[in-house]
Amino acid sequence: MNVLVINAGSSSLKYQLLDTKSGNVYAKGNCERIGIDGSFVGHEENGGEKQKLEVALPDHKTAIKHVFEILGQAGFDTDKIEGIGHRVVQGGWYFPESKVVTDETLGWVREVAPLAPLHNYAEADVIEICREMFPSIGNVIVADTSFHYGIPEKAHRYALPRDVVDKLHIRKYGAHGTSHRYVWRKTNEFLKGDVHKLVSCHLGSGASLSAIQDGKDMDTTMGLTPLDGLIMGTRCGTIDPATVCYLQREGGYSVDEVDTMMNKQGGMLALSGVSSDTRDIEEAANNGDENCQLAMEMFYYRTSQLIAEMAQSLHGFDTMVFTAGIGENSSSMRLGVAKELEWLGVKIDEEKNSVRSGEPRVISTDDSAVKVLVVPTNEELMIALDVEELLDK
Ligand code: ADP
Repeated sequence: MNVLVINAGSSSLKYQLLDTKSGNVYAKGNCERIGIDGSFVGHEENGGEKQKLEVALPDHKTAIKHVFEILGQAGFDTDKIEGIGHRVVQGGWYFPESKVVTDETLGWVREVAPLAPLHNYAEADVIEICREMFPSIGNVIVADTSFHYGIPEKAHRYALPRDVVDKLHIRKYGAHGTSHRYVWRKTNEFLKGDVHKLVSCHLGSGASLSAIQDGKDMDTTMGLTPLDGLIMGTRCGTIDPATVCYLQREGGYSVDEVDTMMNKQGGMLALSGVSSDTRDIEEAANNGDENCQLAMEMFYYRTSQLIAEMAQSLHGFDTMVFTAGIGENSSSMRLGVAKELEWLGVKIDEEKNSVRSGEPRVISTDDSAVKVLVVPTNEELMIALDVEELLDK
């Protein structure tokens, strides 16, 4: 089935047209600076070079029109697109699994939007536009939180007054669920079913871990929002929650300033003082920058600490997978994290670890107590497979 996958943010919209049978990506791209001066579409076909088209994109509706126009010019008229998958960042309590778009399910995306205002409102608008412009194409909502919704209550409940927590729907929702679900599926296929207790490490500019037992998620490191857990590119991850009150009370920072500080000015950017991109930080660290050296050390320390926490949720682990930008590309960072876990029997084969490839592969030694793999993630394919399954029904 030819499925168009859409992932909208407040001023951006990523798209990918792919075939679920072969996994072949016909075209993909991103609309940037929607509603801001200098908007453009970056588009590529069949793995070719990316073209940048400068076009006015005053709103998401215009962006969608351009996407369909570009796809039409590439030979994909609307009648060749058999389904649209929408990545929704926050599914709240309504999406324990993916669902076909109806008036009701679309309403749910908006109802839970206060939990992820920058993304949910934009994607809900895009869903509405797609239904209006292309009424013959089915739409499916795939929430990034679904995979985590079934984790045990002891893992998702917050120790705050019950009435407050229940009224405001506060709990651990997690994120990157579509990626962790794909990682489980692909690893299980690659290891021919010989995987039971898996810690999935999605390490990109956003980063999270997931503790998966025979395909079922048992815990994850992100919380009510994607700020919790690991140290990320610009997000601070777990800190003492009282810091938030202290910053406001004693530091005089407003709610929005604290929010920005924790989400956009924190993490590796704050620690290194150089960049949020680990490539820059690693290079500076290798050239003797002490802040960057500490940032790298802290990344290894916190990541390995939380991997052990996930392993505890599973009472042991037999498999650990690295994925996303850092996990797939940085052999030195994989090694840095894995070395911290040697006491648990994790042993990396440095030669296997140094191989660069887009394919799933084992990078641990034969006698490692835990099998360690690199498995490139593919959230778009996972979304498209959900679209196929639900629309086929
Ligand atoms: P997201 O989808 O969350 O924006 P990605 O999964 O694409 O992020 O990861 C992007 C990040 O991966 C970059 O910011 C960079 O820090 C990191 N990265 C990519 N390639 C490398 C590499 N070769 N070495 C170290 N870090 C890398």
